Amino acid sequence: MNTWDVVIVGAGAAGLFCAGVAGQRGLKVLLLDHSDKLAEKIRISGGGRCNFTNRLLDAAAPQKHFISQNPHFCRSALSRYTPQDFIDLVQKHGIAFHEKHKGQLFCDHSAEDIIRMLLAECEAGGVTIRSGCGVQSVRSNTEATAPTRYTLTTTQGEMQTKALVVATGGLSIPKIGASDWGYRLASQFDLRLVERKPGLVPLTFDGAAWTPYAQLAGLALPVGIETGDKKARMHFDEDLLFTHRGLSGPGVLQISSYWQEGSPIRLNLVPDVNVPARLQEAKLRSKKLLGNELATWVPSRLAEAWVGQDAALQRTAAEVPDKALNKLAEALSNWCLTPTGTEGYKKAEVTLGGVDTRDLSSQTMESKQPGLYFIGEVVDVTGWLGGYNFQWAWASAHACATALPGPISN
Ligand SMILES: Cc1cc2nc3c(=O)[nH]c(=O)nc-3n(C[C@H](O)[C@H](O)[C@H](O)COP(=O)(O)OP(=O)(O)OC[C@H]3O[C@@H](n4cnc5c(N)ncnc54)[C@H](O)[C@@H]3O)c2cc1C
Repeated sequence: MNTWDVVIVGAGAAGLFCAGVAGQRGLKVLLLDHSDKLAEKIRISGGGRCNFTNRLLDAAAPQKHFISQNPHFCRSALSRYTPQDFIDLVQKHGIAFHEKHKGQLFCDHSAEDIIRMLLAECEAGGVTIRSGCGVQSVRSNTEATAPTRYTLTTTQGEMQTKALVVATGGLSIPKIGASDWGYRLASQFDLRLVERKPGLVPLTFDGAAWTPYAQLAGLALPVGIETGDKKARMHFDEDLLFTHRGLSGPGVLQISSYWQEGSPIRLNLVPDVNVPARLQEAKLRSKKLLGNELATWVPSRLAEAWVGQDAALQRTAAEVPDKALNKLAEALSNWCLTPTGTEGYKKAEVTLGGVDTRDLSSQTMESKQPGLYFIGEVVDVTGWLGGYNFQWAWASAHACATALPGPISN
């Protein structure tokens, strides 16, 4: 009774999708999760509307939107199961969706639509789902003739399985079920790990140095943001959000995945304006205070914060010395600042690093340990903001589900 073709641990995005596809291939599938509530990350994703894929994922170079020690590893799975494949499934289930920004597809109604779809696919595949079921230990069966390779001791009894799929995700948002179990299991079977750290996460700054900007909390504006040196520079044009402790918003989340501790980020707060020329022009023409002049082309709170920091700027535009104007131009269009850290896993959307792809097959997601597979975020593949992480979950799950060995003959 407790013998399975495949046991999948983790009923999130990758685990649910893998279970449905494998079940519909005729495999006897058990999907288990230690949480009582399944798919919590899908539920909270995309502000409750789940940004489930991205239409701009480049079929010729899908790795462009992903970070990994081996950037090419994800190419095989992503090019075999594409955003269009997932869109077809969403449409088959009659789920309404829309494109928001830069190819990002969101549900019109709720992320629950995607969860219901994945559960319906599992039901169509006859998948058995057990929630509130923790795995206490995993043993590999050593007898060469055994039809099953692994024995799992769980809080709901012992289980035998031919294949074991780990879909336990990353470390972000621990309060909704994230755990390091997948990484520990990888280590148990001598698979290598790439160091983990929070990604797509707000950046924080030194309390005292941040004081002049803390008053800007809640202000959002489009910026150019970059980090890295000439050899590895990353640049995004996206929105920035000031917070009480630092910076957030899509631009900052994107850059945070590339940011190295101790290094600076550079911001262009007025990307569509030639700032030095505009300030010189104001100096020649305007009789207004510089702060008021500035507030006609940047948000007034931002203008106040910058002018408030330098007495030389608190005059009419015509009276401000060129040196102070040049300093202001530099501050607005090339603001260089060094974060002290990040908001950590409590606020991160993803975990960078994970199971080292050198120990996994990019075709099947099977590890060097026969019969043991890793899919989704637990693997060292991290996508950009914008639906790329779910597309990796679907694509890696599909690669695995279609490669799993056939049913155990009775
Ligand atoms: C706030 C937020 C918003 C996001 N929005 C988006 C978005 O709109 N678009 C996008 O592409 N990505 C988004 N992401 C990222 C995306 O949610 C993840 O990359 C994706 O869910 C990873 O899928 P997964 O199946 O690998 O892991 P998960 O979906 O995290 O699933 C892992 C499952 O494993 C279970 N589990 C963990 N440990 C154990 C254990 N020891 N035993 C049994 N079960 C276990 C967990 O309970 C969970 O159900 C968001 C993330 C967050 C935090």
